[in-house]
Amino acid sequence: MSLRIAQAKSPDFVGKEVKIRGWVYRLRKQKENAFVLVRDDRGGVIQCIFPATSVAGLTIESSIEVTGVISQDARAPEGGYELKGREVRTYNIAGADYPIGEYQSDELLLDKRHLSLRTRRMVAIAKIRASVLDLGRRWFVDNGWMEVTAPIIVKGAVEGGSTLFKLKYFDQEAYLSQSAQLYLEAMIFSLGPVWSITPSFRAEKSRTVRHLAEFSHLEAEAPWVTLEDILGVQEKLVSHVIQNTIKQNAEELAYLKRDVTDLKKIEPPFERLSYNKAIEILKSKGFTVTEQDGSKREIRVGDDLNIDSERELTKDAGKPIFVIGYPIAVKPFYVKEDPEHKGTGLAADLLAPKGFGEITSGGMREDDIVSITERIKKEGLDPAAYDWYLDLRKYGSVPHGGFGLGIERLMRWITNVDDIKDTVLFPRTMSRVAP
Ligand code: ATP
Ligand code: MG
Repeated sequence: MSLRIAQAKSPDFVGKEVKIRGWVYRLRKQKENAFVLVRDDRGGVIQCIFPATSVAGLTIESSIEVTGVISQDARAPEGGYELKGREVRTYNIAGADYPIGEYQSDELLLDKRHLSLRTRRMVAIAKIRASVLDLGRRWFVDNGWMEVTAPIIVKGAVEGGSTLFKLKYFDQEAYLSQSAQLYLEAMIFSLGPVWSITPSFRAEKSRTVRHLAEFSHLEAEAPWVTLEDILGVQEKLVSHVIQNTIKQNAEELAYLKRDVTDLKKIEPPFERLSYNKAIEILKSKGFTVTEQDGSKREIRVGDDLNIDSERELTKDAGKPIFVIGYPIAVKPFYVKEDPEHKGTGLAADLLAPKGFGEITSGGMREDDIVSITERIKKEGLDPAAYDWYLDLRKYGSVPHGGFGLGIERLMRWITNVDDIKDTVLFPRTMSRVAP
């Protein structure tokens, strides 16, 4: 039976013969001995020593099974254990032109992502990602939310029409889903608080370090809630995921050189900042916005916040900030208007500190049939495409709300990788659909 490398690196096996399976990660041949770093398929790495002659012909990424004796030596790389190889069985001798070496351009690593997934950096990121997804799921399950699955092929836009991916669906036109929200709204009337993690698709035309064309969207929706309830869920969820990820993945985060001191402080409550106050702060700092014709003017109430203003607001913050009460004009049609402050939406975006930007967006949904029909029309959308959605306001409407969190946005903050493309194994952007 073969062991995982992490298991074999234990005092229990010192002096004993073990079998490990893996791939040649680095290879150094000297006159008498060859030093072969072997990696397995869960990130384990160990140095194996062989007589040079027994590994002639071995190449990087060849798949092998090694039988040998474990020894402990403080000087050995990879944690003080090594394996004195007695026998090596080769499954496949890898082509000598393996394209991934120690120093590679980001573009090449993306072009060869099917191979660069084997790098320790990508393995570390994949493990952190698995934790983030698992912890998010567990939080919902443990707090009584029900997991659901919404369709990916849909007829109606949720966000702006400009980012819709069109699809020929038999003899009609359909779209790839931008968000599961409208479907989750339909579910809460019989299922109560629900959540899902589904891919969302957005034809993002600008190149940024925080937009993908396909991302993992964690969405939640519940009946009989208030805006404050929805904010409470988000701050608890985000804190839970972060605190446990930094514990479970300390090794991987250290490998990525992520100093987690700031993440340790992420605990509820998060600051609530009104949109109006946010604009005031930005104004006092002389913040400007660029008009379509390229001219600049002072930021004012009514403007949406962009990445630059989000960075300015959060650059000195230790914790995420909820910005509450955006003008409904900059928010989608389903955002509920605050009955006490006309023109303002009962909605909030959660901005991660230090300029990582928006990670969630949520709030109360418009539950009045007349208002929502007007808003759909105002956005230039066809109410007929939303007939089923309008039924939810016609038959037993209730106050309800929810939010959507971009898993890759949260990942980018936790890992501090430069580009969101590195938070996902096979990124999709305007210029990349392969591998
Ligand atoms: P932004 O203003 O940053 O484009 P948005 O307002 O379009 O975000 P929402 O439609 O509110 O975002 O989506 C909810 C969440 O989904 C966002 O808070 C973000 O975490 C995530 N998200 C949105 N678009 C993308 C994308 N293209 N790539 C990755 N994550 C995204
Ligand atoms: Mg967007």
